[in-house]
Amino acid sequence: MGPPGSGKGTQCDRLATRMGLRHLSTGELLRSEVAAGSELGRRVATTMVSGSLVPDELIVDVVLTRVAAAVGAGYLLDGFPRSSSQAHALLDGPVPPDRVIVLEVAGNELVRRMLARAAIEGRADDTAEIIAHRLAVYRESVLPVVEILAARGPVTRIDAGRAPDVVAAEITAALETE
Ligand code: AMP
Repeated sequence: MGPPGSGKGTQCDRLATRMGLRHLSTGELLRSEVAAGSELGRRVATTMVSGSLVPDELIVDVVLTRVAAAVGAGYLLDGFPRSSSQAHALLDGPVPPDRVIVLEVAGNELVRRMLARAAIEGRADDTAEIIAHRLAVYRESVLPVVEILAARGPVTRIDAGRAPDVVAAEITAALETE
């Protein structure tokens, strides 16, 4: 878990490689559906460009199917759950998560990172106005989900405003000691 720009993708790539886990990024999954022009992609495209969350009914089954398929390997979810109904579907599903890691970064640093990413990757939702909306969505809709997860299992909060190597080392240490 973590706000947009907190480094979820970067840290999940590293962890997935190191631990042999499947990296399931809902943002990547949806972006590839949009790029492929699938029916799901057509239904979520406008919402994604606006920076709002896509409706639960379009994402929950897709994600839970992938989670179930990763059962032997283990999975790392990036960008899910982002609503209380997604959280309950995951917690009550066939393979609930063992651990929740929350990446915490100050708002001004998040904006700086996303604008820098826009110059490199050209993501349609990395503009100043949409970034502000995505941060508000995180504060209002996604942060309460952390509390739902915390009531059901361990949550580790990491100061992710530091260099990627430092953050990765702290995540690894947390996983090994707790
Ligand atoms: P991300 O790459 O994680 O920042 O996600 C990009 C966009 O995909 C978000 O702004 C949402 O529009 C959509 N999205 C990704 N994950 C979810 C989710 N779990 N629930 C609803 N919308 C999502």
